[in-house]
Formats: sequence, structure tokens, C-alpha cells
Amino acid sequence: MAKTAFITGLTGQDGAYLAQLLLEKGYRVTGLVRRSSTSEINNLRLKWLGIENQVEFIDGDLTDVSGLVRTLQEVKPDEIYNLGAQSFVKSSWQQPLLTGGVTALGVTNLLEAMRIVVPDARFYQASSSEMYGKIQEDMQDEDTPFYPRSPYAVAKLYGHWITVNYRESFGMHASSGILFNHESPLRGIEFVTRKVTDGVARIKMGLADELRLGNIDAKRDWGHSRDYVKAMWMMLQQDIADDFVIATGVTTTVRDMCKIAFNHADLAMEDHLVIDPALFRPAEVDILLGNPAKAKSKLGWEPQITLEEMIIEMVDADLKRLG
Ligand code: NDP
Ligand code: GDP
Repeated sequence: MAKTAFITGLTGQDGAYLAQLLLEKGYRVTGLVRRSSTSEINNLRLKWLGIENQVEFIDGDLTDVSGLVRTLQEVKPDEIYNLGAQSFVKSSWQQPLLTGGVTALGVTNLLEAMRIVVPDARFYQASSSEMYGKIQEDMQDEDTPFYPRSPYAVAKLYGHWITVNYRESFGMHASSGILFNHESPLRGIEFVTRKVTDGVARIKMGLADELRLGNIDAKRDWGHSRDYVKAMWMMLQQDIADDFVIATGVTTTVRDMCKIAFNHADLAMEDHLVIDPALFRPAEVDILLGNPAKAKSKLGWEPQITLEEMIIEMVDADLKRLG
């Protein structure tokens, strides 16, 4: 019989790619959608992938536990993927309480609903490499101590530990994926990779002349969302729930990532890039570099798409969009 998946954050980048993957595997895919006055555009990513009519939307919000209970009663999922979050680090200083309510307590709301309604389902929590923050080890793995550097990262740390705690307290099949930055043509435009590829495409098409960025010395371990959602699914197919770092094992500066985009468009970066002090953060995560050895040995997971391939795909997609 076909399995049923329930995804929070279905309208986000990872939600869209995960839905596509699960549909290909024959799942019934359901997911939470926030009511909005612009509901005609909140399924844009699913439309981009051509799957908007193959998934079931359920109105709801991670802060509304009674709604989550009723939803799980209706849907009866076999697998729950908690991808919903206020996910942008910079906004989390502007909205720390909202970030805590959704990104931290929202996890407990969903775990509670699951414990009450479908305790035997399997649960995935979208944890983040931002939890390592001010890194305590050069290469971060599942045993590296955390040191969060933003309200977002602090909220994600709570979400991570409450997932571990529900697994240990109630024997629930709850796994936490510590995913390093992952991008795609469906990445939100406020994140640096997409801001760069959209900016480069605009300059190429004569719609803009400059690209303003903050700290271009920051380094990230960037992978592709399409690769990373496979790891989420693989985690829930394990007999025993566990936590995994998902990363590429390569770290690159924002500057060098940016160069790939400008070079692909045959533009000179120095002619267009402007450093704007207003875009620096109150506290920075200087460098992240993940060690995905456990995911490789236990899940058989490895990334397939390189940073260069991904940035080229993103620039081309932005040129197509603007065209
Ligand atoms: P997005 O920002 O693209 O998507 C976030 C999703 O959460 C959207 O569907 C959004 O809905 C939804 N959402 C926001 N607030 C609520 C709420 N109150 N109730 C229910 N849903 C809500 O993020 P990504 O797809 O990139 O990331 C998926 C998850 O993985 C997030 O939890 C993120 O923090 C985490 N993560 C992401 C990484 C990355 O590099 N992409 C790295 C590590 C972790 P709407 O469309 O209405 O805004
Ligand atoms: P994050 O790692 O989740 O915060 O992902 P982002 O893509 O938002 O940021 C990655 C890095 O790029 C951070 O170190 C930012 O400080 C840096 N960065 C530099 N300029 C910008 C910018 O204009 N926008 C964003 N979002 N990040 C920038």
C-alpha cells in the first residue's frame, strides 16, 4: 500500500523537492500551507516543478497545536517531515520571538501532535549547521559541540534536542538531519547564493548595474537541495532513528561562489560588486565545513552535484525567469 507523507514547509525550497522525490516513489504527499491573502502565489515552487496538482494542501500553522492534532487525525501519515520554519538567519534578529515560536516550539507542537495521534509514525526534523555557529572543531560532525550565533540557530538547537529527547523519552522514531547550507533555483531570494545568481542575471540583462553584498569572506559548505532531500528520506527508512550530518566536505567563500556566477555570465565581478556595511550581521558564522562520513557509511548517501554545477544551474534559471 502507498505510504502517506506529511510535510510542513511544503511550499518552501526543500518541501518542493522532497514532495517531488516522494511522488516519484509513489507516496501520497500532503502538507501544511499557511493561509495568506496571496494564496495564488504560495505554491510557485511546486508549480515550477509541475507537481502543484499532485499534492494535498492542508491549511495550518506550526504554532497552532490543535490544528496539527486534527490534521494528523485526518491524514494519518506514515512519515512526517518537519521542514517548516522561520528559516532566514538575518530576519531572526528582527523577529526573535516569532523565530522561537515557530522554529523552536513549533517542533514540540508537531511532536506532541504526533505522540497523541500517530506515535508509530516516523519523524524528520530539519536541523541546521548554523547550530555549530562559532565552530568548536575545524570539521563539524555529529559529535561536535554546538555554539549557536543567532536567534535562528538557538531556536534550531532547541528543535534538535527536543527531537532527540522525544526519541529517548518515548521511543519515537524521530531523526534529526543536521544539514549544511543547500541551495537551488528554488532558494529564497534573500539567501546569498540566490541573491547573487538573480543579481548577476539582472546585470546581464541590463536590468541592474550593481550587486550589493555584506561579508564576502564568510565560508559555507554548499550543496544542492535535490541531493539533500534524498538524505532526509533515507534517514526515515532506517530501522533505528538517528542523527546525521549532511554536507559536501568542501567549504568556499562567498567571494569565490560569486565569481562562479559572474564568470558564467561573462561579466567582471569587480565592475559590479559593492560591499554594503548594512548587510553585515550582528554576529557572524565565519566558516562551516561538514563531515558527512556517517551519512555515507550508514545511509549510503553522497552528494552528486558540485557547487559550480549548482551555481550555473541557478544563473541559467534566473536568466530564464527574467527573460
Ligand atoms: P524555506 O524558507 O524555503 O521554507 C520554509 C517553509 O516553512 C515555507 O514553506 C514556509 O511557508 C514554512 N513556514 C514558515 N513559517 C511557518 C509556520 N509558522 N507554520 C508552518 N509553516 C511555516 O526553507 P528551506 O526549504 O530552505 O529549508 C527547509 C528547512 O530546513 C527549514 O526548517 C530550514 O530552517 C532548514 N534548513 C535549511 C537549510 C538550507 O540551507 N536550505 C540548512 C539547514 C536547515 P511559506 O511558504 O508560507 O513562507
Ligand atoms: P546562512 O548561512 O543560513 O545565514 O545563509 P545565507 O545565504 O543567508 O548567508 C550565508 C553567508 O553569506 C553569511 O555568512 C552572510 O553573512 C553572507 N552574506 C554576505 N552578503 C550577504 C547578503 O547580501 N545576503 C545574505 N543573505 N548573506 C550574505
